[in-house]
Amino acid sequence: MISRGSSRRSPNTLSAARARLLDEIRQAGVSDPAVIAAITKIPRELFVDDALKGRAYENNALPIGHAQTISQPVVVAYMTQALTQGRKLDRVLEVGTGSGYQTAVLAELVGTVFTVERIRALSELARQRLSALGCRNVHFGYADGMNGWTPYAPYQGILVTAGAEQVPAALVEQLAPGGRLLIPVGPQGRQSLKLVERRGSTVREQDLGWVSFVPLLSGKV
Ligand code: SAH
Repeated sequence: MISRGSSRRSPNTLSAARARLLDEIRQAGVSDPAVIAAITKIPRELFVDDALKGRAYENNALPIGHAQTISQPVVVAYMTQALTQGRKLDRVLEVGTGSGYQTAVLAELVGTVFTVERIRALSELARQRLSALGCRNVHFGYADGMNGWTPYAPYQGILVTAGAEQVPAALVEQLAPGGRLLIPVGPQGRQSLKLVERRGSTVREQDLGWVSFVPLLSGKV
């Protein structure tokens, strides 16, 4: 098949790609109607550069500058469902705002999203995008999220969108009782997606499968 330049793709091509992607998301086991509705509502093409808009509904991570990527949409949907599990969580922390796409999807589903990003330019751009979308329940932080975001803790859910070497203890500490943390753990490009659940004084850890994220780094830039 001859692939055409993204800028020449028509809106129809984009909506056909979007429908195919929703099928892929359902096939990956995402069935929660609220998650499907959120993914359907948020236009992923608004979270990538103009030159990449034609590829916005491919199930791929795409570059967003600063050596970072917007996460794969099937993984965004899967992680969102695994975090919320059909419940409306009150407060959720996202570590790694990036493009703001996952943030916008979460904001449709939970009370308040607290999202931290270590690259100032990405945080600012995400803030502008979500404001343009009329999203009012998100607090943006320009911070190293390796240690969570203490002032607003505890959280019923914490979602980390970059690969950590190990589960940071601070994140587990910032989980509310019954809270769930989703975090990719392992080397760059191949991590195991861990679900960490806090039940009273015990912590349960489960592997949900392989994922591929950019690394969780310390410090701010
Ligand atoms: N969910 C985002 C994923 C972006 S990639 C999206 O779909 O667009 C992961 C992001 O995590 C990058 O923007 C990177 O800068 C950020 N990141 C990495 N380490 C971090 C840290 N310690 N604190 C906050 N953000 C971090």
